[in-house]
Amino acid sequence: MAWKVKVDQDVCIGDAICASLCPDVFEMNDEGKAVAIVEVIEDEGLYNCAQEAAEACPVSAIIIEEA
Ligand code: SF4
Repeated sequence: MAWKVKVDQDVCIGDAICASLCPDVFEMNDEGKAVAIVEVIEDEGLYNCAQEAAEACPVSAIIIEEA
């Protein structure tokens, strides 16, 4: 299994919850928005933390889909 991860830059409000919950997948950029540092996830552990971050994101800016 593999998953693609994206952060919708227009929707992200920059509260850094995702980067704090799942720093192996998300980090904050210079504009204060989250970005996925891993575009395609193939590891189940990483997928689980990315999924947890997506569920915790207050504005649903994190998009995870099967690759
Ligand atoms: S949790 Fe959502 S709103 Fe917060 S930084 Fe991450 S993507 Fe942006």
